[in-house]
Amino acid sequence: MNFQDFNFVPQLQEGLDTMGFTKPTPIQEQAIPHVLANKDLIACAQTGTGKTASYLLPLLHKIQEADISHTDTVILSPTRELAMQIDQQIMGLAYFTGCTSIAVYGGGDGFSYEQQKRSLTDGVNIVVATPGRLIAHLTSGTINLKKVKHLVLDEADRMLDMGFYEDIVRIISYLPEKRQNLLFSATMPRKIRSLSKKILHDPVEVNI
Ligand code: AMP
Repeated sequence: MNFQDFNFVPQLQEGLDTMGFTKPTPIQEQAIPHVLANKDLIACAQTGTGKTASYLLPLLHKIQEADISHTDTVILSPTRELAMQIDQQIMGLAYFTGCTSIAVYGGGDGFSYEQQKRSLTDGVNIVVATPGRLIAHLTSGTINLKKVKHLVLDEADRMLDMGFYEDIVRIISYLPEKRQNLLFSATMPRKIRSLSKKILHDPVEVNI
């Protein structure tokens, strides 16, 4: 199998070609068709397996195909390092699509809160965020997530280990009820199972 078999919009295929991605990894081969089919997904996959592109590619395809200009996708990450890595992959894959993204995280260098506020008010297609900082923007009304159709929880087990459960639930209360949910986790302890029961609807399960 190669990426052409997914029939992604040409601008996305061009991004794949430029990045030198030719063959999907096993997680990509398994997850992409379900994400394209709008199914909720729970995926057990480690870093290094290509898990990020396994959700980014079908989401970017859908955003491009539907010609969306508002915030469509929220990706939650436990750390700012991961948020930055995800945003960098979006910038590479989406380079020819015109799809926009921002990484939103607290503390240290990078975008200041004020800079984040301006970019968020302009409307970006994909918001990659650590939970605490996203809540700050939500409570101050800087960001509008009323049209979000896709939620990704990346490294969900680490987010729970870091005590983000309440924050995740609170962020979800700002999202429309009808949306696609994708949960990625390196491990599947009981607390991940119960989180998925609470958030996901009839999910497909993928294990790598
Ligand atoms: P991840 O597991 O998402 O952190 O991805 C690990 C690395 O693999 C990243 O640097 C990606 O850019 C790269 N990668 C993801 N999918 C592919 C692919 N199909 N072919 C080649 N490299 C890939």
